[in-house]
Amino acid sequence: MKSAAAIIESGARHIVRRLRDAGFAAYFAGGCVRDKILGLAPKDYDVATDARPEVVQRMFEHTIAVGARFGSIAVILDGAQYEITTFRADAEYTDGRRPSAVRFGTIEEDAKRRDFTIGGMFFDPETDRLIDLVGGMRDLRAGIIRAIGNPAERFAEDRLRILRGARFAARFGFEIDPATWNAMREAAPSITEIAHERIGDEMVRLMTEGGAGRAMDLLRECGLWAALAPELLEMIGCAQPENYHPEGDVWSHTRMAVSMLPAGCSETVAFGILLHDIAKPRCRAVDSDGKVTFYGHTDQGAVIAAGIMARFKRSNFVQERVAYLVRDHLRLCMAPRMRKATLKRMLADDGFGELMQVAMLDALASSSYLGYWNFCRRALASMSAREIHPPRLLTGSDLIELGLAPGPLFKEILKEAEDLQLDGAIATREQAIAWLHAHYLPQAN
Ligand code: ATP
Ligand code: MG
Repeated sequence: MKSAAAIIESGARHIVRRLRDAGFAAYFAGGCVRDKILGLAPKDYDVATDARPEVVQRMFEHTIAVGARFGSIAVILDGAQYEITTFRADAEYTDGRRPSAVRFGTIEEDAKRRDFTIGGMFFDPETDRLIDLVGGMRDLRAGIIRAIGNPAERFAEDRLRILRGARFAARFGFEIDPATWNAMREAAPSITEIAHERIGDEMVRLMTEGGAGRAMDLLRECGLWAALAPELLEMIGCAQPENYHPEGDVWSHTRMAVSMLPAGCSETVAFGILLHDIAKPRCRAVDSDGKVTFYGHTDQGAVIAAGIMARFKRSNFVQERVAYLVRDHLRLCMAPRMRKATLKRMLADDGFGELMQVAMLDALASSSYLGYWNFCRRALASMSAREIHPPRLLTGSDLIELGLAPGPLFKEILKEAEDLQLDGAIATREQAIAWLHAHYLPQAN
């Protein structure tokens, strides 16, 4: 059976064949060429051609005019999406300064409008010929990220490229060419001139595609954290008690935890761990006997973390989930001492699986003590979903039927009943009603 990667590659080959049969030039382009040379399976294929977008649209049955104005048509083939882009002469200006129409051009011009050499190559899948007009192969061999053309001009055209450069360096473990790096540093303070949605999308990719620890460093050295989330820099030099944190200050601890994030992790886990101790610097205090404390850092951290995710224009779900992960990241440690009802409520939280991931990374980047983590894992494994989150024995209408007047007490009664149920003290509706009679209902005499 063909693998998924082989199926999407044969779709891309088919598109190239169809365009050529119609008399056009067509090549694989950009990231997929780079990935193939690196021996990685491209996650999608871009095809570059001299056929105009309207022609491409007519040639294929299922198309979406994703960026027709900019020369891009998406073709859907066997459920996979391919981007077919007409050779362009214009660079990309994508922050409201986009030219209203692009100028189409030659393959040479199209290579030059791309951002980095390693992503600026073309490949002929029928002859296995690489078309490298920008020195991409040399840089790929040497492991170098280098802007195509004049780096300062390229970053001025589209500042998103600063983040893209950092992302590729982090993901592939490449060095950044000195001239490109200098231009990145100079342009970094103006990163906020582009749409924050674009920044947010790129930040997520930086943190979830592998090499997130290195990404943290590059963003720091480049001045991007200073421009985008200066709160992170406060972690540098924020000293912690050595017995708990032999690895060093809050930055080093976070850096170590983040560097263990696997490629393909969720953005909420990635930002949850990146921001889990974000408020420690603000909450740091030394009490009278010299003990360093960080009281309140989880609650304050949740607020700061949600603010950063909002700044990156992430969804409400993401903001809330990251806030939860930061707020509750120390709760797992209390699990062995929790009353059963409290433990079950924690295990039933929607984000608990992700909280476990964050807690694991946090532990591995400090004491490596996983006793409480294993306690939670065992608790989860030993109980059914129904045991953890059973259907309620009583509802508000039961209380009314039994003669209680609706009011604020209802919530309390229902919570208490649920506590008893989760603790295992009551198990049936009859027992719940008997308990209600004993505690809340006027005794009949
Ligand atoms: P990834 O693996 O992350 O998809 P990629 O190199 O394929 O990496 P895409 O964002 O998919 O990146 O873009 C496809 C190609 O389009 C890139 O290889 C690059 O040549 C070009 N490109 C994308 N964004 C820009 C940009 N902002 N400026 C210039 N060229 C760009
Ligand atoms: Mg791509």
